[in-house]
Amino acid sequence: MDSRVTKLPSESEVIVIGGGIFGCSIAYHLAKKGKETILLEKRNICSGASGRNGGQVIQLEGREKEPANIKKRLALTRENNIILKTLSRELKIDLEYRRTGSLDIAFTKEEWKELEYVVKIQEKAGDREIALLTKEETLRLCPLLTQEIKGARYRPSDGTINPFFYTRGLAENFVKHKGEIFTWTEVKKILRKNGKVCGIETTTGQRIRAEKVVNVTNAWSSFLIPEIDILPLRQTAVVTEPAAPLPVCPVEAFIKGEAIYANIQSERGNLIAGGLDSFRLSRQRQYEERIFLEEVRGNAKIFSCLYPSLKDLSIIRAWAGTMALGPDFAPVVGKVPESEGLYMAAGFYNGMAYAAIVGELMSEMIISDRTPSLLECFDPAKYYRRKFVWPKTYNCTSLAEFFARK
Ligand SMILES: Cc1cc2nc3c(=O)[nH]c(=O)nc-3n(C[C@H](O)[C@H](O)[C@H](O)COP(=O)(O)OP(=O)(O)OC[C@H]3O[C@@H](n4cnc5c(N)ncnc54)[C@H](O)[C@@H]3O)c2cc1C
Repeated sequence: MDSRVTKLPSESEVIVIGGGIFGCSIAYHLAKKGKETILLEKRNICSGASGRNGGQVIQLEGREKEPANIKKRLALTRENNIILKTLSRELKIDLEYRRTGSLDIAFTKEEWKELEYVVKIQEKAGDREIALLTKEETLRLCPLLTQEIKGARYRPSDGTINPFFYTRGLAENFVKHKGEIFTWTEVKKILRKNGKVCGIETTTGQRIRAEKVVNVTNAWSSFLIPEIDILPLRQTAVVTEPAAPLPVCPVEAFIKGEAIYANIQSERGNLIAGGLDSFRLSRQRQYEERIFLEEVRGNAKIFSCLYPSLKDLSIIRAWAGTMALGPDFAPVVGKVPESEGLYMAAGFYNGMAYAAIVGELMSEMIISDRTPSLLECFDPAKYYRRKFVWPKTYNCTSLAEFFARK
C-alpha cells in the first residue's frame, strides 16, 4: 500500500519498521498469531539489501574459527533450513529454494591448510556435516571449476533461494493475515516516554501510537536507535546472461586476497557473483547503491577465475546494496534496554539463512515478552551505549580482516 495516497492509522498493537526479509518475516509471524501489526517501509518492499543480494543460503561462514560463534549461528541456521523445506508450501509460492550444497574453495596451499584447520575447529564445535574435499573430489563434483584450485570445504545442505520471492512471499502472506503494509513511509523517530515506547513519527509528521515497535531497518538501524552501533556494509553484485546448469552452488572463495561469493544460479541459468575489487569507502558512503565500472570489471573476472570455460559470459546487470554488521561481526537481536516495548533485529551477514527462524522467534518474544533461548546470545544489551572504533574506510574483505584481528 502506498501511503502517499493512503491515510496511516492512528494506532496499532505492533509497528514493524523496515520491509526487508527480516521485517516481512517478523510481521508475517505476528499477524499469523493474530497480533494487529502494521509494517512501514520508506521505499518499497525488498528495496534494501534483501532485494540486492545473491540468494545464497549459507549456514556458517566458511572460515569462521570461533567455537562460540559456530555454535550459536548453527543453532539458528539449522532451524531455518528446516523451515525453508516447507516454506514454499506454507506461503503458496515457489521460493526457488534449492539445496545444491556449497563450496568454500582454497586457491593456495596456505588456504588449503587454513581450511583443514577451520574444518577441525568447526567439527569440534559440533558441525557434523561439513567435509574437506581434495582437488580431485571437488572437480568431480563441479567439473567446470578451474584446475588451479587446491580443494574445498563442502556443506551439502546449503543452497540458494530467490530473495525477491522469499521477501514478497512473506509480505503477501502477512497481508493475507490482515496485516497492513505502508510503503514510501519513512519513520523519522521512535517515540519513547518514561522508559517505554509509545509509537513512531514519520518524516511527514504523522504519528502512530503503539506499545510495541520493532526496528528492522538493518543498515539504517542506528539512525532510529543511536544507542546501538550497527555498522553499514556495502556489497556489490553482477549477473550474467544464462549459462548451462552448474552442479554445485554457491561458492565462497578468496581471489587476489578479496572475499568473493559466486555461483548463485537463477532458474533461467543467470549467474550472480560479487565482492571482487569492491571500493573501500567511508561509513557514510557505504549507502552508495551505484556500482563503479572498476567494480563491475572486477566482479566479471570472478567467473573467468572460477570457470575458465565461462570467461566470455556477458554481464547483463550490476548493482550495489547495503547490508549491516553488529559490533562482533554478529547480529544484534532482541529487546532494546531502557525502552520497554522496543525490539530490534539487525546485522545479519547471511540473512537468507536466518530470516525465517528469526521471524518466528521474534514474534514469540514480542507477544510473550520473553527472550527465546536461541536468541539470548544476540542480546542488544551487550552493545548498549558502547562506543566502537571502526576503520575509516572499509569493504567486506577489509572489515573481515579487522574483526579477525580484534
Ligand atoms: C550485494 C549483496 C549480496 C548479498 N548476498 C547475500 C547472499 O547471497 N546470501 C545472504 O544470505 N545474504 C546476502 N546478503 C546480505 C542480505 O542481503 C542481508 O542479510 C539481508 O537482506 C538483511 O535483511 P534486512 O531485512 O535486515 O535488511 P534490508 O533488506 O536492508 O531491509 C531494511 C529495510 O528498512 C527500510 N528502512 C530503512 N530506514 C527506514 C525508515 N527510517 N523508515 C522505514 N523504513 C526504513 C529500508 O528501505 C529497507 O527496505 C547480501 C547483501 C548484499 C548487499
